[in-house]
Amino acid sequence: MGVDLGVSNVAVLSDGKVFGNDHEYKRRKERFEELHRSFSKHRCSPDNKKHLSKLQHAYKKMKNHRNNTLHGISKYIAEKYETIFMEDLSISGLRKRSRSRSMTQSYDDASLGRLTDMICYKSEDTGHTVRFVDPRNTSQICSGCGCFVKKDLSVRVHQCPRCGLTMDRDLNAARNIHSLGLAGNPFPA
Ligand SMILES: [Zn+2]
Repeated sequence: MGVDLGVSNVAVLSDGKVFGNDHEYKRRKERFEELHRSFSKHRCSPDNKKHLSKLQHAYKKMKNHRNNTLHGISKYIAEKYETIFMEDLSISGLRKRSRSRSMTQSYDDASLGRLTDMICYKSEDTGHTVRFVDPRNTSQICSGCGCFVKKDLSVRVHQCPRCGLTMDRDLNAARNIHSLGLAGNPFPA
């Protein structure tokens, strides 16, 4: 199973399963940021304590929601699939991804790093295996015919001029990650 993590979705699997962007987290985060601004403004007012407890409450709810989501996704993946291939995002292009992610994805790289860790330890618990592959060009190569189809991040659909394959960009990436893993091409640790 190939897993593509978090550009416009949280995770897309090579069998077509999609864990979409976490809109509720985004809402909670905006609420927290709004409260934070208000708290900063009223720092010296007598209402300060009330603001602070509201702020702490919002933070806790936001964090709990995200953790529950990450646990749910990692549990599903780790239990369902015997061999899981993922991109090694510590290797290349992480910063570029961060910048592009902040435009589309509610989770930052730290959250996606935690998701990766959770998938790893939960797979270990169930006797399943995680292997990492080289992340370079997984979104650019056609998973149908292997030709290079250059596209920037705003292009959400992969469309191959050679073989005609048309599919969601992240699914195409997940399928490439799967093929790379099957080809026994894990990135050397
Ligand atoms: Zn093609």
